[in-house]
Amino acid sequence: MKKYGIMGGTFNPIHLGHLMISEYIREDMQLNEIIFVPTGNPPHKKTTDAELRYRMVELAVEENQYFSISDIEVRNSDISYTVDTITKLEKELDGKIYFIIGSDTLFQLKTWKKIDLLFEKVEFICAIRPEYVSTQILDLELKYLKQKYKAEIHIVETPLYEISSTDLRNRISKGKSVKYLIPDKVIDYIKEKELYK
Ligand code: ATP
Repeated sequence: MKKYGIMGGTFNPIHLGHLMISEYIREDMQLNEIIFVPTGNPPHKKTTDAELRYRMVELAVEENQYFSISDIEVRNSDISYTVDTITKLEKELDGKIYFIIGSDTLFQLKTWKKIDLLFEKVEFICAIRPEYVSTQILDLELKYLKQKYKAEIHIVETPLYEISSTDLRNRISKGKSVKYLIPDKVIDYIKEKELYK
């Protein structure tokens, strides 16, 4: 059976942290494909236009034969909740679906819409940067989620790549370099569209 990893995010912009954890997880969990799902534009939230964020992800994933992109959330003009996205993807994909998250997201999962149903539908894969999260706090959270929701959460250790889209937007707005933090093609696109100035 095919194994799909879903990597959801705002990707404003996509950076090497996102790509690196996806590649580590793909290999470690022997996934056949990783599908990046950029979020659509939430009605009342100011973010970079979904079409531009989508294009940046598209440029970034083209270099990896195991990576692809889905417009399932970008197409939707309303907020897309992960549980609804997964319900739609289940109909499109023939195989097992895993949802990829970073360790910061692990601690927010209990606030997600219909998280109990989502845990029934998918297994999670969490990229842990060992130096970053205390094992005690992590173990407590995993135990809680497993007991309360029967959650299946796989942990994959990845290197610490301490970058976030927020930092990158700040760097770009100050005219600082983001080389080696964002794929070159994406940097060119950001320049062309004059994003984050
Ligand atoms: P922002 O700074 O705008 O909040 P972000 O860099 O955290 O953005 P998102 O698009 O919100 O990026 O993240 C998508 C997923 O990638 C989340 O699950 C997040 O935990 C994970 N992630 C983001 N940055 C890293 C990183 N440097 N290393 C590992 N995982 C990351």
